[in-house]
Amino acid sequence: MNIPKHTFDAVIVGAGGAGLRAALQLAESGLKTAVLTKVFPTRSHTVAAQGGVAASLGNSTEDNWHWHMYDTVKGSDWLGDQDAIEFMCRRANEVVVELEHYGMPFDRLDNGKIYQRPFGGHSQNYGQTPVSRSCAAADRTGHAMLHALYQRNVRANTHFYVEWLALDLIRDAFGNVLGVTALEMETGEVAIFHSRATIFATGGAGRIYHSSTNAFINTGDGCGMAARAGIPLEDMEFWQFHPTGVAGAGVLITEGVRGEGGILRNASGERFMERYAPNLKDLASRDIVSRAMTTEINEGRGCGPDKDFVLLDITHLAPETIMKRLPGIREIAIRFAGVDPIREPIPVVPTCHYQMGGIPTNYKGQVVVPASDDPATPVTGFYAAGECACASVHGANRLGTNSLLDLLVFGKSAGESVVEDIEAGDLPLRPLPVDAAERSLARIDRLDSQTNGESVYEVGQDMRRSMQKHAGVFRFAELLREGVMQINEIAERARHTEIGDKSKVWNTARVEALELDNLIEVARSTIVSAEARRESRGAHVRDDAPDTPEFPNGRNDHEWLKHTLWYSDGDRLEYKPVNLKPLEEDTRPIALAKRIY
Ligand SMILES: Cc1cc2nc3c(=O)[nH]c(=O)nc-3n(C[C@H](O)[C@H](O)[C@H](O)COP(=O)(O)OP(=O)(O)OC[C@H]3O[C@@H](n4cnc5c(N)ncnc54)[C@H](O)[C@@H]3O)c2cc1C
Repeated sequence: MNIPKHTFDAVIVGAGGAGLRAALQLAESGLKTAVLTKVFPTRSHTVAAQGGVAASLGNSTEDNWHWHMYDTVKGSDWLGDQDAIEFMCRRANEVVVELEHYGMPFDRLDNGKIYQRPFGGHSQNYGQTPVSRSCAAADRTGHAMLHALYQRNVRANTHFYVEWLALDLIRDAFGNVLGVTALEMETGEVAIFHSRATIFATGGAGRIYHSSTNAFINTGDGCGMAARAGIPLEDMEFWQFHPTGVAGAGVLITEGVRGEGGILRNASGERFMERYAPNLKDLASRDIVSRAMTTEINEGRGCGPDKDFVLLDITHLAPETIMKRLPGIREIAIRFAGVDPIREPIPVVPTCHYQMGGIPTNYKGQVVVPASDDPATPVTGFYAAGECACASVHGANRLGTNSLLDLLVFGKSAGESVVEDIEAGDLPLRPLPVDAAERSLARIDRLDSQTNGESVYEVGQDMRRSMQKHAGVFRFAELLREGVMQINEIAERARHTEIGDKSKVWNTARVEALELDNLIEVARSTIVSAEARRESRGAHVRDDAPDTPEFPNGRNDHEWLKHTLWYSDGDRLEYKPVNLKPLEEDTRPIALAKRIY
């Protein structure tokens, strides 16, 4: 079959914060760069980020990157790779100031410096008191950031392929990555994007859960494509549930609300976080707050007729503060919860928010896999950044505002690595295998010829409900075991889905069916990895992991201080060590070396 072919130095899949930051690096260095995206760039999920981007600028409270690094390692429940965490925290100020110079309209302090607000888990002096580290543009930080980056890319002549769906990764017999196949939604035609380097920046997959703060486009396509091409997915058992999704709707209420002074209350009006986290209270890290809320609800102290939510109260803040710092939140509360937060508290519940795991990379943004005796060997020509990647800076739990930072730091470093690797002569344009598009065409042919199949929506709904029940905020051994079987059955059903409309032009049913393949890979990796990890750590909390002095909070470092690697083929699991060494030994924060809790 004669398939159109486009050739570039680099192809980036995804035009959210990570993809755009990487694209800028490449386009500005003169490489011929294509960016493929399912939606117009400024509609990527990054646009929804509210609270801010972390950097230890120290504009209103004293701060430094050691404290940021300590908080990130501790927040990760020690599963984060410390070389990557050091790299990110040290580079934070540079990338944020750079963004400001690109035109990012940050809020300002009276002295003209960037406004910073406190956020959960970010502290001074190794966990003592909250610090103001989150650089914000009101409660629309992601929106401002994405627009600043997009405009800068237009200036740099980045070539965008908008409303193109990347389908599969192309690898040759040696495992080198040579680009992707993609479907143009407008025409329904498939094309090959042949490149020296391929960067995945496809964002998260929060849509494997029933209740999610994520956009409908967050279907884990990068992870699905990587998994089908034999690349393992790392630490997929760790999903962050954001404490404050609007009850019933799932729409996010930023942690910035608590940063500005918001308080969580149970049915009797009690500020219950004082019991669970006496120091940081409502600003404890997200896993702690989500579990505390779930415990309140499970023990009958929830609000409403079904006692199934708690309240987020900002009625004590001045109306002017709410209008100035949280205008979008007020709008969301009025629209989705029917309450004006100036006068009434907002009903909230923990909601799936962020995937800590993803495609394994090092801090340079190179995708790495185990090979012979090295657990982290780069895959030639393949890079990843942003939420689809696992560097791993977030380990078992991400701190709020560290993701936007991750996009900037690792988007930039992935771009830099591509430039370096091309300049070093490591990435010639390798010949395509004859069957480069075979897998994608077979998937599409199957959909076109399938009869008597199930609806994509039904299978998807069963997957989302099953994941919500079997791999939620708390995890139960029995439910996990059942979940593995259920998800495998659902995965089998997904192989026989049928679409009623077989036309080509703007066929969104076909797009959703192809996305479901990716969601299924992510759901399988999550449930299998979670069932296997017999301890509690960060966002993964099991009922059968004992909380004893030897295993604080159920964490078992003797056996489980290691990263999970899940392979799609046969649900195979492997493990690799956590990098406990920062880049420069003498810069290791004192508290980390002593491991203060
Ligand atoms: C509601 C909400 C609020 C948040 N608030 C904050 C915050 O305040 N601070 C913070 O640090 N983090 C926040 N986060 C997390 C953070 O926003 C995300 O992790 C981050 O924006 C992800 O960026 P990304 O560039 O990796 O992907 P995204 O912004 O999700 O972009 C993914 C891109 O990939 C493209 N794509 C995907 N699949 C394909 C395919 N098959 N073919 C072609 N293109 C494809 C999409 O079109 C899109 O352009 C928030 C998240 C949510 C959901």
